[in-house]
Amino acid sequence: MYESPPPAIVRYWYPEIWDFVERIRYAYRLIPFEVTSWWRDEERNRLVGGNEYSQHLIATAIDAIPLSGYDQASLAWAFRQAGLIAVDSYQRHVHTQLYPAGFLRDWLGA
Ligand SMILES: [Zn+2]
Repeated sequence: MYESPPPAIVRYWYPEIWDFVERIRYAYRLIPFEVTSWWRDEERNRLVGGNEYSQHLIATAIDAIPLSGYDQASLAWAFRQAGLIAVDSYQRHVHTQLYPAGFLRDWLGA
């Protein structure tokens, strides 16, 4: 089961997370899915092999598996319809995020 972001993250990224969640809801109405990963702390992100600057760290990314009868390409389409970035080249899930790759690295000035 996925983890929700802790209050400190939600307070800091409130407008961004809210925008992201609204887009996720929009996509769900097009193609239904199950969320397998949302927010991750740094340790968990490392354990699952996530990118060092993954948007899972700030809760503006999720991994989702389409419900039975739908495929990954359709789910990726739904996320893109919602204005999100979507990557459907994983074995089971579609990764979607609010900002283009490199956002968090640039924001941190790394
Ligand atoms: Zn992901």
